[in-house]
Amino acid sequence: MNKEKYITDPRFKGIAPFAEKVWLSSPTMHGDEQKWVDEAIRTNWVSTVGENINEVERMTAEKVGCKYAVGLSSGTAALHLAMKLAGERLYGQPKVGHGTLEGKRVFCSDVTFSATVNPVAYEGGEAVFIDTEYDTWNMDPVALEKAFELYPEVKLIVLVHLYGTPGKIDEIKAIADKHGALIIEDAAESFGATYKGRQTGIFGDYGMISHNGNKIVTSSSSGMLLTNSKEDADKARKWSTQSREDASWYQHKEIGYNYRMSNITAGVLRGQLPYLDDHIAQKKEIYYRYKEGLKDLPVSMNPIPEDCESNYWLSCLLIDKNAMSNQVREEQEVHYVNEPGKSCPAEILEALMAFNAEGRPIWKPMHMQPIYRMNPFVIAEWSGRGKSNVYIIGDKCTDVGADIFERGLCLPSDNKMKTEEHDIIIDIIHRCFR
Ligand SMILES: *Cc1c(COP(=O)(O)O)cnc(C)c1O
Repeated sequence: MNKEKYITDPRFKGIAPFAEKVWLSSPTMHGDEQKWVDEAIRTNWVSTVGENINEVERMTAEKVGCKYAVGLSSGTAALHLAMKLAGERLYGQPKVGHGTLEGKRVFCSDVTFSATVNPVAYEGGEAVFIDTEYDTWNMDPVALEKAFELYPEVKLIVLVHLYGTPGKIDEIKAIADKHGALIIEDAAESFGATYKGRQTGIFGDYGMISHNGNKIVTSSSSGMLLTNSKEDADKARKWSTQSREDASWYQHKEIGYNYRMSNITAGVLRGQLPYLDDHIAQKKEIYYRYKEGLKDLPVSMNPIPEDCESNYWLSCLLIDKNAMSNQVREEQEVHYVNEPGKSCPAEILEALMAFNAEGRPIWKPMHMQPIYRMNPFVIAEWSGRGKSNVYIIGDKCTDVGADIFERGLCLPSDNKMKTEEHDIIIDIIHRCFR
């Protein structure tokens, strides 16, 4: 990208690039993290056992309101073990070398990070993507119901709460119950958010959160599996430590993984967890400052419904259809034209980058990804052009995920962003529409 193009553009006259980069969402340390990491090193408990792990598991279970939280090396590991637990429960233990979901279809959120759905493939399953609704930007229950008409044999649903806002949990649970399907809840981005007063991550049969570096609290890298079943928690712990049986030598009856959380990363997390609510409050303020600051533009913010409290992890923008300038995305490149009174995600993201602020496109829907675009994709309203894999951008668009990807973007949402910086970012966005 040519930064000079923006810096010399008369529309941006008088704006100077930020001396320090404003991030999308970066780690925020408070000091206690150091204390618990030092403690682990001082006492020589630096492996995958120790007080930090016990404490963060206890604190997390207490916060979300479930019986067991199992500390793992990443959110992806937590999703993989959730997939195995669900797969074994539904279809039994597979032969060695085979996945628990082999030959099985699994209904998955479509607008999400790839880590939500890759574990379906790790276990040999086929993801069927369910389109998104506009009310929460999550899985559309209408499309899900359609999917059960097309694939009545499906017994597993993977549901994400995108950008920290809970999806339509009651509706989706009712459909899952009706069809006897289990739910894996990917609350990687929504730790601390509530739906009708209860924390996300505990509505499904299996839940998980992530503490990856850009999430609302971080340990540098880890995740947790959430469950009320002691049996599942014990199994996940065992699988995560190479499936060792209770014997004096290495004895193995099952395939194992090296997925357990380390007592060092748990130390970082132990220092972070007490600040979860502070981080949410800061992110919430950022969201409402954008909402107020951008209200005169032909845009809307990512929707947050009344019956839930988001954790406001990322603030996002959706440009009105009639205010979109022409934008063409190739496989890896984007082109656009500048039109007065209009703008597009590519222009806003490039302008922000030119002034040293980081935004990001909306997560590109899974059904549009080269790796998954031949998988089935179910939308709520067909446009009459076939059974699946048809998306048409424009007035007749019924592919909600593609539409949000086309018109939406994630704004700089770092909780260390200063008010002055925030005002300039809001100003830059306004100038994009000139
Ligand atoms: C971050 C993220 C994950 C994966 O978590 P890691 O800890 O990075 O492995 C899974 N799902 C979603 C929706 C995420 O945003």
